[in-house]
Amino acid sequence: METHFSKEQLKNKDNKSSEKILRKCVHCGFCNATCPTYQLLGDELDGPRGRIYLIKDMLENNKPANDKIVKHIDRCLSCYSCMTTCPSGVNYMHLIDHGRSHIEKTYKRSFRDRFVRNFLSTVISSPTYFRIMGKLTLLAKPFKFIFPKQIREMIDLMPVNFPKKNLPKMKVYLAEKRKKSVARVALLTGCVQQVISPQINEATIRLLNRHGIEVAVPKGIDCCGSLNHHLGKSDLAKRIFKKNILIWYDEYLKNGLDAIISNTSGCGTTLKDYSFIFRDDNNLKKKAKKISELTKDISEYLEENVKLNFIKNKENSKTYKIAYHSACSMQHGQKIHEVPKKLIKETGNQVFDIPDGHLCCGSAGTYNLLQTDIAKKLLKNKISNIEKIKPQFIATGNIGCITQIANATKIPILHTVEIIDWYTGGPKPNILKKL
Ligand code: SF4
Ligand code: SF4
Repeated sequence: METHFSKEQLKNKDNKSSEKILRKCVHCGFCNATCPTYQLLGDELDGPRGRIYLIKDMLENNKPANDKIVKHIDRCLSCYSCMTTCPSGVNYMHLIDHGRSHIEKTYKRSFRDRFVRNFLSTVISSPTYFRIMGKLTLLAKPFKFIFPKQIREMIDLMPVNFPKKNLPKMKVYLAEKRKKSVARVALLTGCVQQVISPQINEATIRLLNRHGIEVAVPKGIDCCGSLNHHLGKSDLAKRIFKKNILIWYDEYLKNGLDAIISNTSGCGTTLKDYSFIFRDDNNLKKKAKKISELTKDISEYLEENVKLNFIKNKENSKTYKIAYHSACSMQHGQKIHEVPKKLIKETGNQVFDIPDGHLCCGSAGTYNLLQTDIAKKLLKNKISNIEKIKPQFIATGNIGCITQIANATKIPILHTVEIIDWYTGGPKPNILKKL
């Protein structure tokens, strides 16, 4: 694609990288075929190619965003299905991140929009605030009819109970029954995940400890920053990224780290991008690059580094039919698709791909809270495709998808790591007790 940035504009590092991305696009439109919003809405501007033109127009002409641009960019899920399909290697992720940040700087949203987005930015990225909000939401549930539609939808999406944590909060979880651990990793415990599904982090820690791996959870890291990054709040996101990079890098230097484990693929995608985000920051680029290199999704780390010790016992003697939901951030963001299925198959269970599995379930960070109608349609399609398989349960690797899908089906849904933990000597997940 021809571009018309001036020399002056190209002195800006973000313009420079976006120009390179734009030049790779050959307008073929293949990406539209796998874009969930284009498939649903049928409007060129609700597909990747149309959005690329909108972003190009804003950046090249140094134009403030307007209502039309914001409407179509806001409807993008950041699912990156278009990147998997694109034959020219267009990095749509970096382009839309730049587009969103430009919107945030040049467009004044309505008071209601600003309130909702600031609320999400503050509450969801803090486990403490999220827990308080969860309790308040429970009290508000019976009176939800007095709230506007968007708030009602948020109340509906909030889990009705918050499971108790079974593991004490510690800075380091030592490897089991060994004098010396075979490896040492840090775990990103996540913001929402540690509140609504603490069992995922617990299964991860148990599983790693059982296989001789020490797990550090350095103090001060809650959120990976992606929530604010995707809301276009790039300055705030960068402050969170920077804090995380410095804490992990310090841990790496002082105590040694073989990997940083993410068990939420949305967060893992962002951690792996820290290196790009700080590419021109002389103080941080080396550290950010190291953190990105160390980051592994839990499934990736297990496959590459751990000889799993599967144990048959009374708790796991049955085999099940499992539908594997490949989160967008896992399959399109991190290009990890086969590994989690392979690991689950090693437990002796049957694993099935979901038809149209490349399409998003509608969760996409805060998308299901901001674009509720589109998210609901995507969820309905996802559930109907899952039901075609008639699975006994669903497996996936992202808390956002777990919450979204669990809201629309009675079929239990587990994180991949809970299954691996269970088949290597961990407890049977509570949600499956009746199966
Ligand atoms: S598939 Fe790639 S090259 Fe073709 S229009 Fe989409 S982004 Fe551009
Ligand atoms: S990220 Fe997803 S929703 Fe956005 S343009 Fe690409 S395929 Fe479509």
